[in-house]
Amino acid sequence: MEYEVEPEAMGVDRVSDVRVSVKLDRDLGSGQSVSFALPEAWTGQRYCPTYTRFPQFADPGGEDYAEVRAEGARFDMSLETIQLPGGLPKGHVRKIKAALVEGCLAAGDHVALQLRNYRSAALAEAGTVRVWIDEQEQADTPKLKTLPGEAELLRLIVPSCAKPGEPFTVSVVSLDAFWNLSCSSYREGVLRMDGGDVLEEGISFTGSYRTTARIDAPGVHRLRFAEALSNPIRITPEPRGPYWGDLHSHDKTHNCGAGEDPYTYARDVSALDFVAVVPDYRAISRDLWEEHVARCNRNDDPGSFTAILGYEVGFRGGHHNIYFRGSDGYIFDVADSSLWSPDKLLPHLDREQSAVVPHHLGIDWSPHKGFYPQRDPWIPLLEIYSQHGQSEFYSPEHSLSYECNRTRHHEDKYATSVEAPIYARDAWAQGRRYGTVASSDNHSAQPGKPVKGLAALFAPANTREALFAAMKARSTYGTTGERILLDFRINGTEMGGEIFVEDGTALTVEVEVHGTGGLAFVEVMRCRFSNGLWERAFYERLREMDGFHENPIETVYDFAVRFEEEFTGDAVYYLRVGQRYPVAEWPVFAWSSPIWVGRKA
Ligand SMILES: [Zn+2]
Ligand SMILES: [Zn+2]
Repeated sequence: MEYEVEPEAMGVDRVSDVRVSVKLDRDLGSGQSVSFALPEAWTGQRYCPTYTRFPQFADPGGEDYAEVRAEGARFDMSLETIQLPGGLPKGHVRKIKAALVEGCLAAGDHVALQLRNYRSAALAEAGTVRVWIDEQEQADTPKLKTLPGEAELLRLIVPSCAKPGEPFTVSVVSLDAFWNLSCSSYREGVLRMDGGDVLEEGISFTGSYRTTARIDAPGVHRLRFAEALSNPIRITPEPRGPYWGDLHSHDKTHNCGAGEDPYTYARDVSALDFVAVVPDYRAISRDLWEEHVARCNRNDDPGSFTAILGYEVGFRGGHHNIYFRGSDGYIFDVADSSLWSPDKLLPHLDREQSAVVPHHLGIDWSPHKGFYPQRDPWIPLLEIYSQHGQSEFYSPEHSLSYECNRTRHHEDKYATSVEAPIYARDAWAQGRRYGTVASSDNHSAQPGKPVKGLAALFAPANTREALFAAMKARSTYGTTGERILLDFRINGTEMGGEIFVEDGTALTVEVEVHGTGGLAFVEVMRCRFSNGLWERAFYERLREMDGFHENPIETVYDFAVRFEEEFTGDAVYYLRVGQRYPVAEWPVFAWSSPIWVGRKA
């Protein structure tokens, strides 16, 4: 089959006319059909492809109009759903079906899908158009190509640690309004130590630029390129991360996701150390699973970029992501609905080889939520934040509540925070041993985009084995997306750990924070199991979380404190931090994994 697409490429998020034409290789008679499905990125809403827009056939002057034309023929237009392996309709992709009702077509004739006033995808990529001739899906179908917009946000990303004098990678990344690498160019830029020496001059690039730098002096440093300040990097003879990644990314293989290549985005745009792409179980057939495993393994590059294998189960009992230690894992037959519950599925998973992480704990999409002891052996971590909002504690007024979700730009669709003991703090107050990560839950193949959540894993090397061990050991924390450095210890035990002491023992709490911007507050929360209440063990307000007016007083980027308190009974502590300035309108937070302090038997 031969195809033509006009225009060959268009800007992202532009209202355009597009024509996809097929040269038939067979005759078609009355009742036979030609169908097209637009790429997922063309049917998902531009700010969140979870939500759908459909073409319409009624009003040629209206938005998102579609018709199918061929000379000497007339078609009846309809939209048909595409079934997922589990029997549900695929999120938002619909077949645009044109059934021949007048005339007939011969091999060599052209049939064209004409889109008018149609908004192009927000993702800059080449998305595949699916084509069916008389219900037979065709191979090697054409693509719709979109090009990025102008720069909106400049990022400067460095690793969080390196050895003195050792070269490390520096990424300068310019993003457009939809987090694509922008089309803007930079000329003769200078990379320097923040407020100090020039590291490299004459930097010219479009979209992104990658180079290496070295720092000899031990300690925490930041770099600067144009208006962008880098995340802090700790120069130390014994680097151990944290490594940064997104454990929760969807793409077009999700039931309602878009985007072709999350791995390239993770590595080359977000400069992540690791990623887990987690297709929705409802979209996974055996074939798709094998494809997913192969793609994940192909993208795993031990030592420099880790691809963690996993998938998402979003059934009754709450949404969970399932991750595997190695290059393969257990997948169930999605048509077997007897397994559509964590309590039925988890026992099939090898406890050592898998890790399960619940997410958006307080959203009302799944009944039977909460924390169940029988699931705990599989669950090392909770996802405390994602693009949906924070799951730290019940607070509909929180600037990061599900109700305030900026992904939807305050459109009328939003999730509600359920008032129930189903948040991270509730789990911890119940004595549950869960660590903390944040990850985006993006549905646009854009893991690690700036404000949707990142996981920090402390590990000696960037490999599947080391990162998985860190997850199992809760040697983790989460942020809204900024690579803030957190160090949190009690009597020398680091976050995620557990210590046992005698009554009256002095607990030495040590906190060290290095922000990516001015800090607003640093807070250590404590819950004593005797009363189950959350209290502040420490609080320092450094600035308001505003970002709207310049403050003449010096901004605090780095903060350390050490304090003592007496052990009086079993308790859990964690560190939470906020920064002054939002990034792209999203407030900036970080949350450590807790430390548990128990009475020595
Ligand atoms: Zn989910
Ligand atoms: Zn998800």
